[in-house]
Amino acid sequence: MRVSTPHMGNLYIPLKALFQRLDVDFIAPPLTNQRTLSLGVKYSPEGLCIPFKLTLGNLIEVAELGADTLLVPGGSGICRLGYYAKIQEQILHELGHKIEIVQMGVSEQKFFGLLKIIKRLSNDAPWTEIVSAFRFGLKKLNTLDEIERLVQKVRASELEKGAANRIYARAITAIDKADNYNSLEAVELDYVNYLNQIAKNPQARPLVVGIVGEFYVLLEPFSNFDIESELGKLGVEVRRSTFISEWTKFSLFLNPLGVNEKDRIHKAALPYLKRDIGGDGWESIGERVIHNNEYNGLVHLAPFTCLPEIMAQNIMPAMKENIPVLTIFCDEQMAKAGMLTRLEAFIDLLERKRRGNAKQKTPALRSVE
Ligand code: SF4
Repeated sequence: MRVSTPHMGNLYIPLKALFQRLDVDFIAPPLTNQRTLSLGVKYSPEGLCIPFKLTLGNLIEVAELGADTLLVPGGSGICRLGYYAKIQEQILHELGHKIEIVQMGVSEQKFFGLLKIIKRLSNDAPWTEIVSAFRFGLKKLNTLDEIERLVQKVRASELEKGAANRIYARAITAIDKADNYNSLEAVELDYVNYLNQIAKNPQARPLVVGIVGEFYVLLEPFSNFDIESELGKLGVEVRRSTFISEWTKFSLFLNPLGVNEKDRIHKAALPYLKRDIGGDGWESIGERVIHNNEYNGLVHLAPFTCLPEIMAQNIMPAMKENIPVLTIFCDEQMAKAGMLTRLEAFIDLLERKRRGNAKQKTPALRSVE
């Protein structure tokens, strides 16, 4: 059995660690690239969302590399994510790949459902080994996300643009290579230090911009032209509440115990939206309410044709919260130059708004200018 899974950010690293510990042959897909996109677009129904197309491209590439058991997200959600697995399996079979798709319907079965899938894929490994491998994978996931949070902060005020990204790339490789807890902890300490030692611009007063929207396009940099890096280059500190480690903590462990981190966000969205509309649309609205006075602006990322995010986008102009929002629809037609132009204009607007607010708060300055 040769197992693989589509990309979503750095998720392949903890999954690789988990399966390698159980002696399962895991094939990491090539990093999502232009060929992945071309394959996905070529073989997908045209109107499907970009997460479907890119993950299909990943699956075709790993099938070409010999993977025969493909783990994909599934379940019975409101949006079309629930159909992904079946349609992608059908397309791969029509292309002549002898693969089996295993759905990770974690939303229904939670932690034990996932462990049962791992047990099956690991040829019935003992539970103790499965739990130990899972814990190690989780540790890698948490380490990756911790480092990424720090990178989001450092990028905004680094003196030499790109310094944090270079260290981040080295950190990802080092985390991937670490094969025990001690080396993983040492890697985390080292890279937190390297990032903290990056020379900062003492005059920097970074704008804070939150990134909200659909889970996949938030987490897969190829799908959004690495928008967080681009914002960093513009001197912006990015805040994002969606991380795979957070999702894992709540969805697998705390939700079954009755703790739902999304309750607060859903409650905040209630004046505008009273129910789940699938995907992450409800959360996009709630996050705008919650962060209204906390951030300078919001970037709302949405896959083109994604109904939940289209509904969220249409609700935004009617909200009383006035934090500026830039919605960007991601698909195969999106061009980087166009996205950068919109980002620069948006950041310019936020900067002017901040200056305007500062002047209003200090009336004495008005007479000086
Ligand atoms: S939330 Fe939107 S983009 Fe994501 S799977 Fe559902 S329809 Fe597609």
